[in-house]
Amino acid sequence: MLDLKKLLDGSLKSIDFSLSLSDCSFIDDSVSGNANAFGTITNHSGLILLSGSVEPSLSVVCARCGREYSYNTPIALNAKITDKLANEDEDEFVLMQDFAIDIDEIVRTALILELPTRYLCSDDCKGLCSKCGANLNEKSCKCDQTERDSRWDVLKDYFD
Ligand SMILES: [Zn+2]
Ligand SMILES: [Zn+2]
Repeated sequence: MLDLKKLLDGSLKSIDFSLSLSDCSFIDDSVSGNANAFGTITNHSGLILLSGSVEPSLSVVCARCGREYSYNTPIALNAKITDKLANEDEDEFVLMQDFAIDIDEIVRTALILELPTRYLCSDDCKGLCSKCGANLNEKSCKCDQTERDSRWDVLKDYFD
């Protein structure tokens, strides 16, 4: 927990934080690696704002070709911190408990919400051949990739 009492009573204008998560497998079974987060919490005349960044250093698996690759796109952290929620839908707010916030939880939540649910090693990843399993990014195979529409078989029989 990060204590914000000094920020709230005005003796500090801002508090810096940094933390690292050494095991990011909580995000998904196919994700491993770590993440570093850092930022500042500032008291703007009573409005407590958190801003910062999460830098993941992850190994993820491409959903199309199964290749493992590294994912390092940073995530921006922005939140307003409050001691009570006026209504439950205010999800950009982070609730303070006993004048402290759980920064670890904030970073974990940001990773879960902001990372893609499906990873692609590249936008034009060709994936695996559905017939022989060859990685089509690395080689082409001899399989017929055209989807056959079985409705034509009836006509084919007719013309035979
Ligand atoms: Zn891929
Ligand atoms: Zn093939």
